[in-house]
Amino acid sequence: MSIEVQNISRRFGTYTALDQVNLRIEKGELVSLLGPSGSGKTTLLRIIAGLETSDTGRVLLHDQDATEVPVRKRQVGFVFQHYALFRHMNVLDNVAFGLNVRSRSTRPAKAEIRDRVFSLLKLVQLEGLEKRYPTQLSGGQRQRVALARALAIEPKVLLLDEPFGALDAKVRKELRRWLRQLHEELHITSVFVTHDQEEALEVADRVVVMNNARIEQIGTPREIYDHPATPFVNEFLGNVNSLSAHVAQGRVHVGAIDLLAPLEMRDQTDAVAYVRPHNIQLARSRNGKPVLEVTVRHIHAAGPTARLELRRTDNGEEFEAEVPRIEEQHLALKVGETAFATLRDARVFPRG
Ligand code: ADP
Ligand code: MG
Repeated sequence: MSIEVQNISRRFGTYTALDQVNLRIEKGELVSLLGPSGSGKTTLLRIIAGLETSDTGRVLLHDQDATEVPVRKRQVGFVFQHYALFRHMNVLDNVAFGLNVRSRSTRPAKAEIRDRVFSLLKLVQLEGLEKRYPTQLSGGQRQRVALARALAIEPKVLLLDEPFGALDAKVRKELRRWLRQLHEELHITSVFVTHDQEEALEVADRVVVMNNARIEQIGTPREIYDHPATPFVNEFLGNVNSLSAHVAQGRVHVGAIDLLAPLEMRDQTDAVAYVRPHNIQLARSRNGKPVLEVTVRHIHAAGPTARLELRRTDNGEEFEAEVPRIEEQHLALKVGETAFATLRDARVFPRG
């Protein structure tokens, strides 16, 4: 089932939680909503679910206006970070819950419910744990039970709000890979909320980056990573250097390096150039090229790549380069020495 959000705004008192949000999610897609805390992710998810109303706009499910459709008729399954399981029910009853509460006319027969629960437990790799109570499970197992419970009603849309947020890093990593595989099997249209950029980029077909009640950018993980559209997206995705730059006569100057200024920036004077550490190349000499002169401050050489902390000679700004170990050995730079940097794929924005 496709999901379409049209011109959705929502205020709480004077606070704007969502500001004219538009988004279309195709049937079978797994989309993540990525943004810092307070950016409106949960509010948007709740509006899609029908748990929250919007002030303007509408939500279409399967291209039909769903505004008047109550939650239980939307065929939506949820998993929330703290959507605790029913503590007094074992795994089997937790997973069966959504089916057991149906009215007699729509409720499957007891044996059928049982079969469905067992096949779901197999799907979420919890076979044999149906008699356990929530307190007898690990955090990761509990979230998989929560997912099985959400899937039991055969939802057309799956909404996951930071489902792995409370788990430790290693379990999160395993579960995100597992969720990806599960999605490839089931192909239920899914929206996955997270504030963790790595999680979003790894899990989703497309990422929706949110900030301050608005969508900043929508794209595939690769598009978002390689072509961040705004300073916010550059910084939020992490692992990026911001280098002060100066604009003059249509050129952006970063030390002695100069780049063509984007048209809309021709009137600016101050700018920021965002460059990822792996897009910084270092040399021991200028080689006749326009370069950024730096001093080596520190070298972290444990790992597959070497990270070099650098300081610009022209303005003292610090930043980081990441080079393959073999190249670092070949360069043989030492702390305190001067090096010369060139930049690949610098993205320039006006200084905000
Ligand atoms: P996120 O999930 O991205 O962290 P939310 O959608 O939960 O963001 O919240 C966005 C903003 O709206 C927050 O600052 C929050 O305080 C506010 N907000 C959310 N729900 C309510 C509510 N029911 N009443 C008042 N303020 C709310
Ligand atoms: Mg939230």
